[in-house]
Amino acid sequence: MSTTRYVEQNALPALLEALRTAFGQEQRILVPVLQPAVKESVVFKPWQLGMAFTLKKATVPPKEAVLPPCETLVQYKRTKNPENPAELTLEVTEETHCQPTIVFGCRPCDARGFSILDRPYLQGPFADPYYQRRRESLTVITQTCNSTGNTCFCHWTGSGPTHPEGSDVLMTAVENGYWLEAVSPRGEKLLAALSLADGAPHADAAQKVRENVNATLEPAPDLSKTQARLAARFTDADFWRDQTARCLSCGGCTYFCPTCYCFNITDEGDGYGENPGRRLRTWDSCMASHFTREASGHNSRPNTQDRMRNRISHKFSTYPETWGTFSCNGCGRCISNCPVCLDIRAIVLAATSD
Ligand code: SF4
Ligand code: SF4
Repeated sequence: MSTTRYVEQNALPALLEALRTAFGQEQRILVPVLQPAVKESVVFKPWQLGMAFTLKKATVPPKEAVLPPCETLVQYKRTKNPENPAELTLEVTEETHCQPTIVFGCRPCDARGFSILDRPYLQGPFADPYYQRRRESLTVITQTCNSTGNTCFCHWTGSGPTHPEGSDVLMTAVENGYWLEAVSPRGEKLLAALSLADGAPHADAAQKVRENVNATLEPAPDLSKTQARLAARFTDADFWRDQTARCLSCGGCTYFCPTCYCFNITDEGDGYGENPGRRLRTWDSCMASHFTREASGHNSRPNTQDRMRNRISHKFSTYPETWGTFSCNGCGRCISNCPVCLDIRAIVLAATSD
């Protein structure tokens, strides 16, 4: 039986304050914040006392908690021997700073996104040390969804509005507050240390809320043959041209995606003199035309349809071939944020059909 707690709605700021020192360490708490813009958006920002926050589904997933859009991998300094300029000394310092982080109020699709990133970053032949440090000091407090949006299809991909994968604590909205349930050893430790009311009196109400949302889901299509069908479609240029005709190659779908993890590496500065040079890792997008352009000028994916084929095949065919599960969690952000409303569900269904 897992540990459960109850927190009143108006006590959430106090809970966030208490989380700041969770596990005996100073924590960065990332919370969803409403950002009125041309299109109202919700983004994760570090919590500060008195700051307004929301528990709406974020427009931008909290992927930056483990994979910042831009990070320094190493700093380097070069020194020439004035007596012998051909003699060069290179000093490299690895960036090891990592602030323990709690993501608060993300959704089950966001939490599952971390699990999907874990496989290539941690479970391949090499673990990425930068990712690993952040992941090992990450705590995920996820709000289960009380309803689904019209672009959500998490249950097609093996997840669901109350799915615990990738979370440490699940919180479910009940009358006047939230029921918190530990779903990992880290979550158990966290809830046990917080001074909150016992969750037992609210357990039935929370389970009912979860059952209700799961009961609203339409049956998911059978995607068991998708991996093989996509592999068979790989050379069907007409199919990919038709499916991609509207795409602008803007890359928005990949930047909003909690499971896309392509990056580029660049050096900034030559490292001579007072200021060290920096080797940077920045998000990149397989939908961008330059992504596969080689130094020779050759580009193995010169057309938009080549890049779309790669994006869809990676998520629904080649990643599952390696890791046994889709690398799309059905969050729907690539649909809701696409300027031409291109719908990944339609492509996957078309590719899966006979
Ligand atoms: S967001 Fe839409 S238009 Fe932009 S690259 Fe993705 S599918 Fe194409
Ligand atoms: S591909 Fe689209 S639906 Fe799937 S995880 Fe990425 S943004 Fe979400």
